[in-house]
Amino acid sequence: MSDIFDPKSKVLANADRAIEFIETGNASPVLIEVDPSNACNHACSFCLSSYIHFDKYRGTETFSRALMPKDMLMKLCEDFVDMGVRAVNWTGGGEPTLNSHLKEAIEYCGSNDIKMGIFTNGTLLDKHDLFETMVENMTWVRVSVDSGTKETYDSVRVPKGGANWDRMVSNVTKLIEVNDSKNKKIDIGVGFVISPDTYHEIVDFAKFFRDFDLTYCQYKPEIIIREDGGQQRDIEFWQGKVQPLLDEAKEILGEKFEVNGYKLEDLAMDRKEFGRNYKKCLGSQISPCVGADGHVYVCTNHRGWKQYSYGCLYDNKSFKEIWNDIQTRQKVMNQIECVECFANCTKLCKPHESNKAMWDIYNSTEEERKKLLDRQEEIRQNIKHPDFI
Ligand code: SF4
Repeated sequence: MSDIFDPKSKVLANADRAIEFIETGNASPVLIEVDPSNACNHACSFCLSSYIHFDKYRGTETFSRALMPKDMLMKLCEDFVDMGVRAVNWTGGGEPTLNSHLKEAIEYCGSNDIKMGIFTNGTLLDKHDLFETMVENMTWVRVSVDSGTKETYDSVRVPKGGANWDRMVSNVTKLIEVNDSKNKKIDIGVGFVISPDTYHEIVDFAKFFRDFDLTYCQYKPEIIIREDGGQQRDIEFWQGKVQPLLDEAKEILGEKFEVNGYKLEDLAMDRKEFGRNYKKCLGSQISPCVGADGHVYVCTNHRGWKQYSYGCLYDNKSFKEIWNDIQTRQKVMNQIECVECFANCTKLCKPHESNKAMWDIYNSTEEERKKLLDRQEEIRQNIKHPDFI
C-alpha cells in the first residue's frame, strides 16, 4: 500500500475523470473542498485563510465569517451525490466544526457512500458530539496542533476565550478511544505546520504524540500565501534549522512520522517557480472549493476573491448548474492561465502536485492514456485514500 500522502498517484487513480476533463472540457469533480464555516475560534499566525476572517481584514472584499446555512449545505451534498463526486474535504475558510449543521451533512454524505476527510483544530468535537459521527462516516480526521507544548499552542494558535490545549488533547484522546472501539475504522492524524514560530517544538510534538494511537503525525512546511507577500522562507531555514529536527522527530515517531516532502523539495530546489512547470491548472478542474460564502471557487487558495468564483449558491443556482456552466469556468481559467500567467497564484498551492500529474496526462498520447485507464483499477487497489487527491 502506497504512502497516504501521494497526490500524483491519486490523480492516476482517478484517470477516468482526469482524462474525461482533458478530452471533453468537463467532468464531475473527484474531490470537493467545502468550507462549512469562515469563522474560526483560533487565529493561527500561519493561517492560509487569515485574509478571510482575521480582524485586520474587516471591510475588505475577502473578509467573511459566514457559516453556511443548513439548506444550502444539505442541497450541496445532494448535488454531490447526484453528480458522483467521490470525496469531500471539510475544511476552511474557518474551523469547519463551528457549523452546527456539519454533523447532519457528514451523516448524509456517509450514508450515500461519499468518502470524507476533515481538517479541524479538534477543540469543538465534544461541543457538537462529533466522535461517533466521524468514526462511523469518515475516512480520516486530521487535527491541527502545530506545537508540542501548551504554551506555544496558545501563543501561535491564539484561541479565542483563552487556553485550548487541554480540550484539544482530551478530544483527540476521546476520538481515538471511539475509533479503537470500532477496530480503527478511520485514520486519525495530527498536523504540525513548520514555521519560524513553531519549528523549535518539532521534537516536543513528536515526544508528546509518540504514544497516542494515531495513524500518523504529519509535518508540513508553512507556505507564505500571496496575500502575505508570497515570499517563501529561505533555504537556510529549511535545510539548516528544520531538517535536523525532522531527522530527530523521525527517530522518535518511527512509522508514524510523515512529512510533506514534495513541498520541502520544491522549496529547496527551485527558488524561482517552486516546481510550477505546468501551463494549465488542470488539478483544480477535478477538485474545486465551495466557500462558506456560497461561492464556488477555482481552488482553496483563491477562496474569497470573487474574480475566481464560477458562481454563487446565493444567486439561486445549484452547485451542479454552476459547475456545468463551462463557459464561465473557461473564462475564469483563461484569466488565470493566459492573462495573469499564474501571477496571483500562491506558490505550492494545494493542487500543485495534482497539477503536475494532470499536466503529464494532458501531454500524453492517446495510447498512453488508454494504458493508464487499463491500469486505473490496479492503481486504486494499491493506494490508501485514492480519492483524496
Ligand atoms: S492557486 Fe492557481 S495554480 Fe494553484 S490551484 Fe489555484 S488557480 Fe490553480
